[in-house]
Amino acid sequence: MKKFNIAVIPGDGIGPEVIDEGIKVLNKAAEMDTSFQFSFTYFPWGCEFYLKNGKMMDPDAIQQLQEFDAIYLGAIGFPGVPDHISLRDLLLNIRKNFDQYVNLRPVKLLKGAPSPLISIANENIDMLFIRENSEGEYAGEGNWLYKGKSHEVVLQNSVFSRKGTERIIRMAFETAKKEGRSLTSISKANALNYSMVFWDEIFEEVKSEYPEVETSSLLVDAAAMLMVKDPKRFEVVVTSNLFGDILTDLGAAIAGGIGLAAGANINPERKYPSMFEPVHGSAPDIAGKDISNPLASIWSASQMLDFFGYKKYAQAAIDAIETLLLEGQILTPDMNGTSSTSEVGDRIVSIMERMI
Ligand code: ATP
Ligand code: MG
Repeated sequence: MKKFNIAVIPGDGIGPEVIDEGIKVLNKAAEMDTSFQFSFTYFPWGCEFYLKNGKMMDPDAIQQLQEFDAIYLGAIGFPGVPDHISLRDLLLNIRKNFDQYVNLRPVKLLKGAPSPLISIANENIDMLFIRENSEGEYAGEGNWLYKGKSHEVVLQNSVFSRKGTERIIRMAFETAKKEGRSLTSISKANALNYSMVFWDEIFEEVKSEYPEVETSSLLVDAAAMLMVKDPKRFEVVVTSNLFGDILTDLGAAIAGGIGLAAGANINPERKYPSMFEPVHGSAPDIAGKDISNPLASIWSASQMLDFFGYKKYAQAAIDAIETLLLEGQILTPDMNGTSSTSEVGDRIVSIMERMI
């Protein structure tokens, strides 16, 4: 029997609530298939930990996490702790140390999910965003060129390395090839005359190795418009850190809202643990009320099952979400329902049971 050791960081706010429901789904999959099992180890890190201990994680957190097969993260953030500290010291720290250079975000409109694009909502909206997750516009490089009142100038540099750019584009081609889907590259070479020209050049280069993959290249502004006007033209999408960040929020809005958006931080070489988390934050305004929507967290758990090679159970979890949405009975208030977080998780698990 295969055993997967998962480090669970429930985090702050609604993090622990939604993570519990994702774990139910993982346990259900393992219960239905005797060939694998999960073992969960909890870490109390996050902003509450910071307020007590002055740091977001243990000093040797990275060494501790290194031993695990994956990390399952709730949400990090608390009104008393500045975002740039909590983000940098926990999330970015883990992403960087474990070289999780791929951010994998499905933008798939499930049947029964609410979408503002009603007129085209019955079309097939099923995009997979592959966002560069380690450098680019978020490299954290820059400086003050001039200080002093009234004529301050700051620089914020982007970093696009050959290694970083080529590996994300190659990973996207591999994914498109494996799934038999088209690949769209999104950049902005007409305005960013170094970084995005470089990006486009590498895309063309790698493309020549994958003649079987249908491709297109779009400018980011045009891509934003087309995601709303004609979302079905996008299948697998590869883009930079900043553009991916912005466009996947747009994607979340198209495909059912923040309560349904999942994201995975992947180290494809599997040298280090990958990390699975809902896209939403800690939502302090609704924390502790048992009304947070666990579907994004459950979708992340499905991504984890997929990553470990259990496609059947990963798909069962997604199908169960779709069934739940179509039934329209057991939903949290953000989806106009009246059910609690755990009622939604329990329902998903019982639908999965029926399905397999
Ligand atoms: P952070 O800085 O941690 O990202 P944030 O306030 O920017 O926090 P979210 O925590 O994602 O962003 O919350 C944005 C809004 O969406 C809040 O009003 C919150 O209540 C709502 N929200 C976020 N996640 C969920 C969820 N899982 N279920 C229901 N509502 C949610
Ligand atoms: Mg936020």
